[in-house]
Amino acid sequence: METKVYYIDEKNDEIIKEASKVIRSGGTVVFPTETVYGLGANALDYKACLKIFKAKGRPQDNPLIVHVADFDISNYVKNVPEKAQILMENFWPGPLTIIMPKSDIIPDEVTAGLKNVALRMPLNKIARKLITYSNLPIAAPSANISGRPSPTSIEHCIEDLNGKVDMIIGGERCEVGLESTVVDTSDGNVTILRPGAVTKEMMEEVVGNVFIDSAVLDRLKEGEKPRAPGMKYRHYAPKSPLIIIQGDLKSSVSYINEKIDENNVKGLKTGVLATDETFKEYKGELKISVGSRKKPGIIAANLFDCLREFDKIDVDIIYAEGFNEDGINLAIMNRLKKAAGYNIVKV
Ligand code: AMP
Ligand code: MG
Repeated sequence: METKVYYIDEKNDEIIKEASKVIRSGGTVVFPTETVYGLGANALDYKACLKIFKAKGRPQDNPLIVHVADFDISNYVKNVPEKAQILMENFWPGPLTIIMPKSDIIPDEVTAGLKNVALRMPLNKIARKLITYSNLPIAAPSANISGRPSPTSIEHCIEDLNGKVDMIIGGERCEVGLESTVVDTSDGNVTILRPGAVTKEMMEEVVGNVFIDSAVLDRLKEGEKPRAPGMKYRHYAPKSPLIIIQGDLKSSVSYINEKIDENNVKGLKTGVLATDETFKEYKGELKISVGSRKKPGIIAANLFDCLREFDKIDVDIIYAEGFNEDGINLAIMNRLKKAAGYNIVKV
C-alpha cells in the first residue's frame, strides 16, 4: 500500500484533520507522542485495530493502549478506581498509562481479551489534536516492527512501517524517548507493570505505596504469566547480541576493553554503549555515548536511537554499561535488560 508521509508541526491543522479522516474511516496513522511515535487506529473499531497488529507483526495477545484527549473516560471504563483518579489528576496529560476495568464498548481485540483497558492522555499537541479532530479514542502501540527498538523519530517509523500504514505524520524527536509508565489500578492498588518517566517516587507522593510487578526487574520464570502480556516478549533489541556490564565504572571499562581485545583476535567487531563519562576510555571506534550519567532524562531520550545506530554500523556483539535503578533509571535498565535478553555480567 502507499503510505502518505507529512513532515509537520502542531500548527498544521490541515494535515492533522486529513489524518483524523483516515482514523475515522478505519485506517492507520503514525503520529508523534512525547514518549515514542504511535501507530494509531480507531479504538472502537476492531477491524481497524487488527490492521495495527498486522502492520507491526504484533502478537494478538499483546493489548493496545487507548489514547484519549478528554478527562471524561466514563464511556470506556466500568469505574474509575480512586487511585486512578488521583493519578489522572496529577500526571495527565503525560507519559502515564493507567489500567482500569473496561466497558463493553472497548473491543476484545484491543485488550487481547482482558477485562481491563489501558488508557493514556498524551501531552504532545499533534497527538491531542489528532484525537480531538477524530472525536474518537485512538488505540496506539509504538510505531515499530514488533521486537525492534521503539521509534523516537519519524525516520525510525519510515524505516519500519513505510508501505504498511496509511499515513505517517510528525517530524519532531520524542522528548521522553521511552514508552509510558504503565500502572494497573484495577484491584485498588497501584502496581507498576512497565516503568517510565513518571516514576514510582513521583506517584508515591500523591497515592502512597506503589508496588513494582516482578516482571519489571527480572526475567519471567518458565510458564509464569505476566500481568502486562507485552512484558513476555523480547523487546527493543538491536540485531546483534547485547550484554550489560554491571558494576563500578572502572571495572566495567577494563572488562569491556579486555573483551574488545579478545574479540579482535577472533575477528569479531565489538560495539560499546558508553556514557559521556567513559566514552574516551574505550578502545576502538565502534562506540556510542548514550549521554551523561548526570542527565538520565537525556539518556532515556537517546537510548532507542543508539540501539538502532548499532544496527547501521554492523557490529557482532555489543557491551552496554549498566545503571542503578532509582527514578527514571529503573525504566532505562528495564529496556536495556529486555534488549539484552537479561544477559548481564556483574564485574
Ligand atoms: P506498547 O503499546 O507497545 O507500548 O505496549 C503496551 C504495553 O502495555 C504492553 O506491555 C501491554 O502488555 C501493556 N498493556 C496494554 N493494555 C493492557 C491491559 N489491558 N492489561 C495489562 N497490560 C496492558
Ligand atoms: Mg511497543
